[in-house]
Amino acid sequence: MTVPFLDLKAQYGSIRDEVHQALAQVMEGTAFASGPAVAQFEKDFAPFCGCEFAIGVGSGTEALWLSLLALGIGSGDEVITVPNSFIATAEAISFTGAKPVFVDIDERTYTMNPELLRDMITTATKAIIPVHLYGQPSDMDPILRIAQEKDLYVIEDAAQAHGAQYKGRPAGSLGIAGCFSFYPGKNLGAYGEAGAVVTNDASFAGKIKMLRDHGQERKHEHKSIGWNARMDGFQGAILGVKLKYLPEWNEARRQCAQRYNQLLKNSSILTPMEAEYAKHVYHIYAIRSTKRDALKNALAQKNIYCGIHYPVPIHLQPAYAFLGYQNGSFPVAEKCAQELLSLPMYPELSPRQIETVAAAIKEFRHNAA
Ligand SMILES: *Cc1c(COP(=O)(O)O)cnc(C)c1O
Repeated sequence: MTVPFLDLKAQYGSIRDEVHQALAQVMEGTAFASGPAVAQFEKDFAPFCGCEFAIGVGSGTEALWLSLLALGIGSGDEVITVPNSFIATAEAISFTGAKPVFVDIDERTYTMNPELLRDMITTATKAIIPVHLYGQPSDMDPILRIAQEKDLYVIEDAAQAHGAQYKGRPAGSLGIAGCFSFYPGKNLGAYGEAGAVVTNDASFAGKIKMLRDHGQERKHEHKSIGWNARMDGFQGAILGVKLKYLPEWNEARRQCAQRYNQLLKNSSILTPMEAEYAKHVYHIYAIRSTKRDALKNALAQKNIYCGIHYPVPIHLQPAYAFLGYQNGSFPVAEKCAQELLSLPMYPELSPRQIETVAAAIKEFRHNAA
């Protein structure tokens, strides 16, 4: 049996007719850049995130970048985030002219360690971007408390956490902005590139709307220098179809995670922890092994395909060498980067596939020299 890391075809098959109809409607209406399908999706996605406003943009990277710009963040400013994210989190900061500053993570949840946060704040700090990695919200209350005390903005990188909750509140609704990616492999994935910013702040929402459309509120009236960061009409239509199924798909992911947890319980493998404050939506189901690379290869030999998120932390990437961090700067993130292995995870993963993966992991000689 082959177990792919991700199988987008399985899901497409289950919604094919609806998707084709929605796409045909966009073509009949010829609204290819933004338009009614995007507007309808925004109207549906905002309440899903517990927010008043959702603004569709071209990608998750743009959602982060425009959010920072809308808050006036730029050259001379510092923004604190974690080193164990997809590089886009840091890139968005860099593209405003500001400097990314990293803080280490919690050893069990792999999200920002709030206890280390205070030490990283300087007079130049303007914002904090916690990343809800793998679909589990960061521990937001202490982060929000520190931000309030120091007068800093909190932008949630919720690119992996559509539908996740922190103490019953939806991911994305806790800071000034929640930034989502609809990259095809995400829990809510488009059939191309797309993203969104959600917020409860009307003035901030207005700024994002202007920034994504060349700084204009009305046609030919450019109030500020913006960008072309609109959501594609086809993507809005597809996301509108898929959003209805997202709660059910997230539930299926949670069940897959529980099956893995059960089957791996008495092995030497460290399974993911769902924090007491969190509803985890398992964008990624990551285990830890000190023999990670050998285990990954052994599984691939059996046609079980895993991923690594992420093998090199951002502060050790060549692109960020200029920040002057080194090996040892963030010991927890660095250790996790060497040990974490992302197992196959998608809503349509079958119990038999999960059993196959778990059996292969247990057969691997974890303690061999
Ligand atoms: C996917 C992702 C992004 C970037 O989103 P794109 O839509 O690919 O631009 C940003 N942050 C995190 C944590 C992500 O997983």
